[in-house]
Amino acid sequence: MNTNVIDAIANNDICIGCGICAGICPQGALIMKFNKYGEYVPYQEKECPEKCGFCLNVCPFYEKATNENVLGEELFSGIDNSKYLPDVGYYLESYVGYSYRFRESGASGGMTTWLLTTLLEKNVVDYVICVTPHNKSNKLFVFEIFDNASSVSSSSGSAYYPVEMSKVIKKILDEPGRYAVTGLPCFLKGLKLASKKNRILDERIAVTIGLVCGQMKSKHYTTYLSTLAHANGKLQNAYYRGKNPDNPANNYYFHCTNEEGAKGKIYWDEGVSEAWVNRWFTQNACNFCDDIFAELADITFMDAWLKEYSYDSRGNNLLIVRSKSLQNLIFDGIKSGQINVSEILINKLIESQKGVIDLKRDQLQYRLYLSDKYGLKIPIKRVKAANNIDFFKRKEVELKNKMQIMSKKYFVDNFDGEYLHLSEFRRQMKLYIYILYSWKLVQKYIAIPKQIRNKYS
Ligand SMILES: Cc1cc2nc3c(=O)[nH]c(=O)nc-3n(C[C@H](O)[C@H](O)[C@H](O)COP(=O)(O)OP(=O)(O)OC[C@H]3O[C@@H](n4cnc5c(N)ncnc54)[C@H](O)[C@@H]3O)c2cc1C
Repeated sequence: MNTNVIDAIANNDICIGCGICAGICPQGALIMKFNKYGEYVPYQEKECPEKCGFCLNVCPFYEKATNENVLGEELFSGIDNSKYLPDVGYYLESYVGYSYRFRESGASGGMTTWLLTTLLEKNVVDYVICVTPHNKSNKLFVFEIFDNASSVSSSSGSAYYPVEMSKVIKKILDEPGRYAVTGLPCFLKGLKLASKKNRILDERIAVTIGLVCGQMKSKHYTTYLSTLAHANGKLQNAYYRGKNPDNPANNYYFHCTNEEGAKGKIYWDEGVSEAWVNRWFTQNACNFCDDIFAELADITFMDAWLKEYSYDSRGNNLLIVRSKSLQNLIFDGIKSGQINVSEILINKLIESQKGVIDLKRDQLQYRLYLSDKYGLKIPIKRVKAANNIDFFKRKEVELKNKMQIMSKKYFVDNFDGEYLHLSEFRRQMKLYIYILYSWKLVQKYIAIPKQIRNKYS
């Protein structure tokens, strides 16, 4: 039998569910569907011809995929004044700020929505592809193609929910025009690999807009949050980044409405953070990502997680620009008073993402080491496997790996297709939380005497 993404990627649990393989498959043999863990994976509908393997060649997690260093160099190294840093990739300049119009509805400062609408209004592109609410309980968000700014405006916000690109890829191939696409780092890598194989895709994707990403969640994450927020059952809608003027930007809230009209709301510090930072419902492929700043995007947006900005509930963006024409659009936006944006040192921007850097550098080394030890199939990364990271960090990685796996299992065990048995799920997960916090206490009591010793030595 022929090897395809199902054998080599999905069956080894390293599929992120981007759907690029299904969108571009020359035979139309693949279709994206949710598996029992609420993650998108490709299913095979028709026989694949011998020696095709097209789907593997566009997969961002295929072991032979060209890495971001090489792809980034091809894209950006020839641009005048382009600089390079290993954790950032190529870049022209870094900025901080927000859009006056879209800040309120945006996940952070609304700069992404501002740029997407500006690209359409200034006729830089004909279509924008972004993620938008779908408001159907089995599929709350989808990638959609828009040709007007008002539809793009109503798609503001971050979707911490699985979305896949197979349908929009097919539409790009069918419909001539210039497209701008938003995507997480791995999705943009898949698109770049696909563009190298398909000239039409390459010609039509005119602008790529990256979002920094710490992890992608399965759709069970949203069911878990809505149950925690007392809006059980099937959902009509969900929003992940509600802003409250009395809170700092990083204490945002999740809110949703179920099909009976019941509304739920829960803040980051009331339980959202427990599931997010402990990697409950995180997809396994995310364990093997080494792209921090969406190195292949023409522009990358992220949250301004710096103390001088995160106190402000209204939100701020940090951004890295890699394209001269997008940089000029930013200058025009500043001049016309649409955005409040200024330069920021690249080191400050890097500092803002120290958590994601730790995940995709130090922790990744140890995750690669563990996967190797247990004989798991893993993609080849730019980071090398190693087990010489800090002892407490190793314990943390081990426990979070365990929680990631067990959250998937316990959810399925405690879910009847509509309702999650929340107390039982939490009771089972609590064990790992207690162990993790016990290790953190030990670490604290070892670290304090060490600090005192250092101070007086
Ligand atoms: C899964 C995920 C993880 C993230 N992790 C981090 C992180 O660790 N650190 C950090 O600083 N920032 C992270 N971000 C980015 C952050 O949440 C904001 O998206 C970013 O700061 C842009 O904010 P904004 O106000 O400019 O966006 P908005 O103006 O609200 O616009 C956001 C745009 O992104 C599109 N979009 C939303 N969700 C997705 C998606 N899943 N895939 C593709 N496009 C999408 C929307 O359609 C919209 O057009 C993450 C985003 C996602 C989706």
